[in-house]
Amino acid sequence: MREVVEQLKFFSDLGVTHLNVGTDDSPQSLEEIRQEIGDCRRCKLWEKRNSIVFGVGNPDADLMFVGEAPGADEDAQGIPFVGRAGKLLTKIIEAMGLTREQVYIANILKCRPPGNRDPEPDEVETCEGFLFQQIQAVQPRIIVALGRHAAQLLLQTKTPISKIRGEFFQFQNSLLIPTFHPSYLLRNPSSKRQVWEDMKAVQARLKEMV
Ligand code: URA
Repeated sequence: MREVVEQLKFFSDLGVTHLNVGTDDSPQSLEEIRQEIGDCRRCKLWEKRNSIVFGVGNPDADLMFVGEAPGADEDAQGIPFVGRAGKLLTKIIEAMGLTREQVYIANILKCRPPGNRDPEPDEVETCEGFLFQQIQAVQPRIIVALGRHAAQLLLQTKTPISKIRGEFFQFQNSLLIPTFHPSYLLRNPSSKRQVWEDMKAVQARLKEMV
């Protein structure tokens, strides 16, 4: 018993406030994952953030979108994809005959990198587990990886997005399709056509799956 107490004291001295003592491997609910994140200070991004941007939408969605990291608008509102790129994503979702409430939207990082710089490897390493848990909880039929960072992380590849976009891959129990990030589309509107082709392929697969 004394050893257990000493171990717990050791964890507590390290700043651990929760121990997950679940005995089964059942996925955590989104609420539990959010609770586990808490007032996160696991990486340096907490210092400048205003909000932790966890995720939004239907916890039981067939379709999940994964982006990179919150920007200034998302950091201010605590909701993913609400700025200019977000408005374009909303348009894409609506063009598919869906609403934001029907899908689930999350990012690799839950806190904004200052100045919207790229996520750094230690930040991704610290945060990626929460995204994987979100995917486990939602169990979407299809995941749309928005842009290079999401696609390369989820597929564990360094292949450029332009080479893998539009193809379906298996990701755990889901299909995963990389496509261009809405921020890229804002800079390169001519690529919207390819994203629309990808979303039509998603619609068709979803139809086959239900
Ligand atoms: N870009 C992202 O990747 N995620 C957001 O939530 C907003 C912009």
